Amino acid sequence: MTIPFVDLKAQYESIKQEIADAVTEVLETRTFILGPHVAAFEKCFAKSCGAEHCIGVGNGTDALFIALKSLGFGPGDEALVPANTFVATSEAVSMCGGRPVFVDAEEAGYHMDLADARAKVTARTKVVLPVHLYGQPMDMDAVRGFAGEFGLKIVQDCAQAHAATFGGKPLAEFGDACCYSFFPGKNLGAYGDAGAIVTNDEELAGRCRMFANHGRRGKYDHEFEGVNSRMDGLHGAVLGVKLKYLDQWTQARRTNAGAYDELLAGIPGVVRPVALPGRRHVYHLYVVRVRNRDGLRAFLSEHGVATGVHYPIALPSLTAYSHLGAAPQDFPVAGRLAGEILSLPMYPELSREQIEYVANLIRSFAGNA
Ligand SMILES: *Cc1c(COP(=O)(O)O)cnc(C)c1O
Repeated sequence: MTIPFVDLKAQYESIKQEIADAVTEVLETRTFILGPHVAAFEKCFAKSCGAEHCIGVGNGTDALFIALKSLGFGPGDEALVPANTFVATSEAVSMCGGRPVFVDAEEAGYHMDLADARAKVTARTKVVLPVHLYGQPMDMDAVRGFAGEFGLKIVQDCAQAHAATFGGKPLAEFGDACCYSFFPGKNLGAYGDAGAIVTNDEELAGRCRMFANHGRRGKYDHEFEGVNSRMDGLHGAVLGVKLKYLDQWTQARRTNAGAYDELLAGIPGVVRPVALPGRRHVYHLYVVRVRNRDGLRAFLSEHGVATGVHYPIALPSLTAYSHLGAAPQDFPVAGRLAGEILSLPMYPELSREQIEYVANLIRSFAGNA
């Protein structure tokens, strides 16, 4: 048996005709940039997020950049960013001319450790950037309390957390802006790069929309300089089709995670992900922790199972951030995680039989260790 890490073909096969119709419609109407398909998707996606406004943009990195910029974040400002995330989170901070201040991870959900964040607040700190890593929301009551204490804006990186909730409430209720990526492999993915900002703040929504489109409202009335980061019509149309299935796909991911939980239980040395109370974890990734991670990874690969590591190098240890002069011992948890985490195959169409195959391989590897 061979099991890919994600299987975008299986999903495409299940909605092929609808996608063909949606793409044809865009081509026939030549609505290539923004336009009615993007507007319709924005409306539906805002609603599905329980929020008032959605602005379709070029990608998830830009969504973070545009939200930060539109909140007035800029040169000299600092943003608290988890050490264990994709580089886009901190890149968006630097793109504004600001400084990412890395925060160590905690051991339960592998999220930003708010105790470490507290120690890193300065007079220049303007924003806290929670990342709902692997699809599991951070404790947003705690984030809100923390941000309130220091007068910080909250920009949420929801790139892995489509349809996730905290305390039964939509994530958009907990901060200034939620930033989504529709990279093809995300829980809701376009057929290329796309992203969105979701917010309940009407004024912020207006500024984001203008900034993403050269700082204009109409065609040539530029009120300020912005950027060109607009969602393409093809992506809006494809995402409009796929959004209808998001709940069903999310449910399937949760079922698959439940199967992994059950089948991996009791294997010595294998730490399963902890589903924290009060969250709807949407399992963008199913990440286990093992001592001999590279050995297990190679063993699974030899038996046809593709895996990933999210992420193999904590951000402060990347060459890109060597100028910040972080020492690995400053981020002990993130550093340890980077060497032990392993992302198992996870997608809605994964079968029980495939999960059993993966779990049995892990059991036999652990038994021979
Ligand atoms: C994918 C991702 C992004 C960036 O999204 P792009 O659409 O690829 O620019 C940002 N943050 C996290 C945590 C991600 O996983």
